[in-house]
Amino acid sequence: MNVILFGAPGAGKGTQANFLIKEYNLTQISTGDMLRESVKRKTELGKKVEIIMTKGDLVSDEIIFSLISNRLNNTDYTNGFIFDGFPRNLKQAKKLDEMMYDMKINLDFVFHIDVDEQILTSRIENRAKQEKITRKDDTSSVLIERLKVYNRETKPVLDHYSNQNKLNVINGMGTIEEVSSNISNIIQKDFKVD
Ligand code: AMP
Repeated sequence: MNVILFGAPGAGKGTQANFLIKEYNLTQISTGDMLRESVKRKTELGKKVEIIMTKGDLVSDEIIFSLISNRLNNTDYTNGFIFDGFPRNLKQAKKLDEMMYDMKINLDFVFHIDVDEQILTSRIENRAKQEKITRKDDTSSVLIERLKVYNRETKPVLDHYSNQNKLNVINGMGTIEEVSSNISNIIQKDFKVD
């Protein structure tokens, strides 16, 4: 089972990604994690993307494509994968369609964890009040920028999957457990999991 998960910053995407990974034994493919790892290891790529990431902007599609194709070619994903944070724009989505077609991999589910803009903004403000911020791009001003980038670049990708009849919109405003069980219900209805 192969899945893509969408959610604006603050929508709880990370939490639900972890749930799906554990529940269905999926392999996570997170471009954000790959990029953070390069920054941490201070590689050439890391140095190139660090400032862009700190500002909350998107890194270039070329960089993302090379990370993704490397990962897909070198990863064992027996039980399927979950894309988390990719695709981030229409060009990336179309490229992913091509790559999956070439590799004869099916896309089974696309989930959008949907949370009202107002709630997202207040979550961001609350996060800013917490003292311990672990990610440099987790300050409130950067999160607001990331939200703008999400609305501008990533939201149109949802229509792309809706046109393919793959999009499932999940109400992200319940408890963590409610959101997880809404996702599971859709999977169990449509997919035979051993
Ligand atoms: P994330 O952990 O998915 O929120 O990603 C953190 C940051 O990495 C983003 O704000 C972007 O700067 C960069 N990034 C991650 N994935 C992508 C992507 N698919 N395309 C462009 N930039 C990305």
